[in-house]
Amino acid sequence: MPLINPWRRSAEGPPGSQRPHVVIVGAGFGGLQACKELAKAAADITLVDARNHHCFQPLLYQVATAALSPGDIAWPIRAMLRRQQNVEVIMARVTEIDTTARRVHTSEIDLTYDYLVLATGATHSYFGRDDWAPFAPGLKHIADATEIRRRFLLAFERAEVVVDAVEQARLLTFVIIGGGATGVEMAGAFAEVARQTLRHDFRHIDPRNSRIILVEGGPRVLPVFPPALSHYAERSLRAMGAEIELNRMVTGCDARGVSLDDGRRIEASTLVWAAGVVASPAASWIAAEHDRVGRIKVASNLSVPGYPDIFIVGDAAAVDDADGRPVPGIAPAAKQMGAYVASVIAARVGGRQAPAPFAYRHLGDLATIGRKSAVVKLGPLQLTGLIGWLFWSGVHIYFLIGVRNRFVVALNWLWSYVTFQRGARLIGIAPK
Ligand SMILES: Cc1cc2nc3c(=O)[nH]c(=O)nc-3n(C[C@H](O)[C@H](O)[C@H](O)COP(=O)(O)OP(=O)(O)OC[C@H]3O[C@@H](n4cnc5c(N)ncnc54)[C@H](O)[C@@H]3O)c2cc1C
Repeated sequence: MPLINPWRRSAEGPPGSQRPHVVIVGAGFGGLQACKELAKAAADITLVDARNHHCFQPLLYQVATAALSPGDIAWPIRAMLRRQQNVEVIMARVTEIDTTARRVHTSEIDLTYDYLVLATGATHSYFGRDDWAPFAPGLKHIADATEIRRRFLLAFERAEVVVDAVEQARLLTFVIIGGGATGVEMAGAFAEVARQTLRHDFRHIDPRNSRIILVEGGPRVLPVFPPALSHYAERSLRAMGAEIELNRMVTGCDARGVSLDDGRRIEASTLVWAAGVVASPAASWIAAEHDRVGRIKVASNLSVPGYPDIFIVGDAAAVDDADGRPVPGIAPAAKQMGAYVASVIAARVGGRQAPAPFAYRHLGDLATIGRKSAVVKLGPLQLTGLIGWLFWSGVHIYFLIGVRNRFVVALNWLWSYVTFQRGARLIGIAPK
């Protein structure tokens, strides 16, 4: 593998090529924020990501349920950073890190670093049953969302041409495993598509007869919300026609459905996994101490103990807030960590005093249930129903990147609010 530090690639090199080199791995919420906050630092940055785009994961479920198209919620990283002169973007997958040689090995090239920021996020965990993954895809990337959308819409197409009533019922059964925000959002959206969007579109089936089943291992959905909001979400979902199985664990997933821990079997065409997450393998790259889901335990300045020049941000980091509670794996936390690490690095390269230890500020919790219902908790304030949904919509539109995306998403939501229609229902059958 050629050793290339892009900023020192040629004798001429770009201006400032002798400056400290910061390698940031991951252009999600945390890595991107760190990168942007270093715009004025006297450092050269190389941002590495295995994908060429930044994805707004909170709206992935809308791609999976045909409300939005991938391009509405994802943007090319290069385009986002085109004006930031001290950044070079490389699309490559990091495979290994040599902390002694201070070298990052990737699928394409190797990089040397002075400072390393690992912001590689998390992915779904099947609790040791990775063999379930092909049958119950999780939702993390654009490709996951389009695959779930394909399976969901294909089920209706197949049910339309199948004559066997039992098989038809199986095709029209959808199971979502995990009752956190993603599971609740998926269940609500599936129910709306089946009950409203598609109800006049078929001749031999009535999509309103679909079963949407949400399976949750704990006693209530949305466990991070106060019980009153969980119960509100549960009532709303049931009113939309979704079935909810609480205190129920899935014991098996296969091509024809799921098995539950009470011995029941649910024959289903489409399964979605929203039950668990595990951090990226960053901990194994640097042999760092990690928690049970693989998040690296970091010092109060988010560096890795024993490696003062390596920092972890976002879902890959295990860090507590001022009250000793684990900082949650959500976008605002990742952004706050990214900004904080940038301030530490900027202070070091600028010869300034180090900032105070990282302190997480929790802004609130939001989850949408359907076209006009959401639950919101902002400190003592709790919102539900249409007011909650308007708040949720405003926040998500505000945080989307680019005027075009904000406009398109707002227009799409307004349109589907009025008509129940979803524009991104495009699938096909691959040639044999
Ligand atoms: C379906 C879903 C819904 C969510 N909804 C919400 C919500 O409503 N509100 C909220 O606040 N949070 C939500 N989250 C959580 C939020 O998206 C994450 O907390 C946030 O994305 C974490 O940011 P991050 O920078 O740590 O990682 P990510 O944003 O996941 O970014 C990690 C990046 O690292 C790259 N990467 C990973 N491994 C490698 C490698 N080996 N080499 C190179 N690149 C690599 C990936 O391609 C990715 O771009 C949701 C997450 C999901 C999956």
